[in-house]
Amino acid sequence: MSETIFSKIIRKEIPAKIVYEDQWALAFADIHPQAPTHVLVIPKKPIRSLAEATEEDKELLGHLQLVVAKVAETCGLSQGGYRVVTNIGSDGGQSVPHLHYHILGGRPLDWPPG
Ligand code: 5GP
Repeated sequence: MSETIFSKIIRKEIPAKIVYEDQWALAFADIHPQAPTHVLVIPKKPIRSLAEATEEDKELLGHLQLVVAKVAETCGLSQGGYRVVTNIGSDGGQSVPHLHYHILGGRPLDWPPG
């Protein structure tokens, strides 16, 4: 897979406000927050999107979802609730081709999204 800005964040070549890290995952504040809390959770493995994940990634995907919930809790979102979004491809509005889950919270969120 080609290099993305997220690869550079994983390697700490460009700065990011990291809120969680382990062997498989990284979570950091989105540079253009769309809510009072806007964090991205990514696998360190460079998977382009959920659509390109395979059977081999089953355990990793489960881990990422648990990381999402843990990060949301440490960001203080558990009580008020939050939204988890992963954009896929051009119609999905994906701009960085490295799988990422947006965690958005800290205000009431509209539905449906635009
Ligand atoms: P997408 O549009 O692909 O679903 O989401 C990509 C997200 O990455 C966007 O919300 C965008 O603001 C964020 N982003 C893009 N470049 C950077 C960066 O260099 N640092 C951080 N922290 N976030 C970024």
